Amino acid sequence: MAPSMAQAMHGQTGKRAMTLEGNILTPEGWFRGELTIRQGRIAGVSGTPVNPEDNDAPRIIPGFIDLHVHGGGGADLMEGGDALATLASTHARFGTTSLLGTSMTASREALIHAFGDAGRIMATPPERAADILGIHLEGPFINPDMLGAQPPYARPGTLEAFDELDALAPIRVITIAPEVDGHMALIKTLAARGVRVQIGHSAAMHDQCVEALQSGARGFTHLYNAMSGLHHRAPGVVGAALAHGDYAELIGDLVHVEAGALLAARRAIPHLYVVTDATAAAGMFDGEYRLGEHRVFKQGDSVRLADGGLAGSALTMDVALRNLTGLGLSLEEASQRLSLWPARYLGVNDRGILAPGYRADIVTLSPQLEIEQVWVAGQPVLE
Ligand SMILES: [Zn+2]
Repeated sequence: MAPSMAQAMHGQTGKRAMTLEGNILTPEGWFRGELTIRQGRIAGVSGTPVNPEDNDAPRIIPGFIDLHVHGGGGADLMEGGDALATLASTHARFGTTSLLGTSMTASREALIHAFGDAGRIMATPPERAADILGIHLEGPFINPDMLGAQPPYARPGTLEAFDELDALAPIRVITIAPEVDGHMALIKTLAARGVRVQIGHSAAMHDQCVEALQSGARGFTHLYNAMSGLHHRAPGVVGAALAHGDYAELIGDLVHVEAGALLAARRAIPHLYVVTDATAAAGMFDGEYRLGEHRVFKQGDSVRLADGGLAGSALTMDVALRNLTGLGLSLEEASQRLSLWPARYLGVNDRGILAPGYRADIVTLSPQLEIEQVWVAGQPVLE
């Protein structure tokens, strides 16, 4: 293409504004009207206050932000290659507009391989895919007695081991067990650098969690799963999260955590947010898939190891949204728990809200909350 032609087309795309019509969820509540997109950003929102229950126009809400996702579309981040691109494209079709690719507990060599390829994908991000914000390092710095579905490569963490991986692909969230020797100091160092430190895969006592929070830990990884539970004389990680947590992630498939436990956490933790913890099986048919070193089996809503233990999910964020509204949460609150709270937690302040100046990361839903279209930085994901 001649340079003049390329410039003309670029200019045209830059100037063209696009308008979405329907019920728009803004920080001031629902408006019936128009949302304008220009150059990948929201240029304006106009309309009148409305209760969306009163009409059949589309529901227009912020794109979902998934801070814990291992795979999708048959690919697992630990495979390397194009896996991160495949999972980012797959989850975008279900409304996820930003995500953290999440690694599994593995050998140093396997992690270096996966992080190297993840870094390459981030350098040339895929089209029609969720924005890849970085990596969630889930293990190997966890308690070997609290592996859950993580392969048996847990080991004490060091700053050197963290930096080696962080140099290949940026680590934004780390899951760590504070009770392991040396980890309290590591938590302090990483938190001071701005890494979000989450307590998880941990058998810590309540008081150790309080010390970790005072050292800068801010979150909890898949609340209730693979952590010491709440006993009234041994409150454990769950007790510490409910007593002191401001943010915590929770797998919203209603398989890993039953409705009553989800609702209890919602009362206690102001900014409880939802993740998928999805495996390669997300967005795929029932069958056999890979999760790190494990073979896992998807059947219906759940993904299990050969021994029947839960091994991540097949969840997508649109299903998580409907799960929350099905429990009686308003669409507004469900949206906050899938978009705004994870954005705030991570400190990405240009998304998670539909208002002028914010990224045009948007999901359009039918009145039944089925996905109609997904926009990443103003570009449509679905054909
Ligand atoms: Zn996970």
